[in-house]
Amino acid sequence: MIGTRSRALATRVVDHAAIAHNARRILDGSGTELMAVVKANAFGHGAVAVSRTALAAGATWLGVATIDEALELRAAGIEAPIFAWLVDPWVDLRAAAAAGITVSVANLDTLAAIDFPIDVHLELDTGMSRGGCSPLEWGALCAAAAVSPARITGVWSHLADASLLGDRNVDGALSAFRDGVVAAHAAGLDPRWVHLANSAGALAHPATALTMVRSGAALYGIETVTGAEFGLEPALRVTSRVSQLRQVPAGTGVGYLHAWVAPSAATLALVPVGYGDGLPRALSTGGSVSIGGHRFPIRGAISMDQLVVEVDASVALGDEVVLLGDGRHGEPTAAEWAALTGTIPHEILTGLGARIGAVESEARS
Ligand SMILES: *Cc1c(COP(=O)(O)O)cnc(C)c1O
Repeated sequence: MIGTRSRALATRVVDHAAIAHNARRILDGSGTELMAVVKANAFGHGAVAVSRTALAAGATWLGVATIDEALELRAAGIEAPIFAWLVDPWVDLRAAAAAGITVSVANLDTLAAIDFPIDVHLELDTGMSRGGCSPLEWGALCAAAAVSPARITGVWSHLADASLLGDRNVDGALSAFRDGVVAAHAAGLDPRWVHLANSAGALAHPATALTMVRSGAALYGIETVTGAEFGLEPALRVTSRVSQLRQVPAGTGVGYLHAWVAPSAATLALVPVGYGDGLPRALSTGGSVSIGGHRFPIRGAISMDQLVVEVDASVALGDEVVLLGDGRHGEPTAAEWAALTGTIPHEILTGLGARIGAVESEARS
């Protein structure tokens, strides 16, 4: 056992069967094209490998935030349509155009900087007040787009909230979007792709699916609709190993500031992962890990690189420690971490650090 594992102290393993299952689930639910959103390294799952899995499962587009993310997929040999939506007036889009990347344009300044052919989807703000063109300027943007060298192949928007069942949750955005599409046609544009829905829209509000849905969270098994489950499967497993075991007497303070003091004699296991790896320090209270199918509590403050768990005699040096998994065997999930730390699973998954070893792929066991 000693000296037999890889150098990484913690490893992430991606279950690509789960990703494929989730992609098919979204496609079945929406009945439209699927853009697999693989931004932020596919929510920590590995963008290139997830892209290949999602495309094989039926996705027809890949979605990323930045041009650099899009170019990385192209550099890996992925030829599918790719959409990148974080485009500002100063970004040089020539590399994107050369690589056949479709980009988002949401304002006249960005459009004016495009003096060469490139595929563009125009973004309308339908109530989120984040990106997107204000409805007040939409007509002018469409008119300018109609005479731009850019090829306008799509019109899109993003839902601020599709988390509740019942269409009143999305009605306003959907009707604003439909108006925007009508205005685009009136300006002489003929967008082939018209897309609004994220994961929650795709699964809970089929009316928002239009010609394509952009789904990230659901692809990674995150359920984002309140009070509904869509049978999605978490795909990421993060493991480490017990790297030291020790007995301590009652009254022993553990970790920085002795935030936990053993009330009785205890067995402590050291796990070489900490908040520097993206394990939220707020899990110091209430967080636990799974070893040998049993839960054991984190004790004391999580350090940057290490944490301490109180275990029992069943645990041996070198045992696998499951920090995060799909929960099917009682292991903690990203949803559990998020609930314990007051955030959403998306932040947990994208926050996992680079020291957590190279993304590996694994078939469902
Ligand atoms: C992140 C993102 C998505 C994916 O949203 P999910 O809720 O993760 O499905 C879709 N579109 C845009 C513009 C995004 O930023």
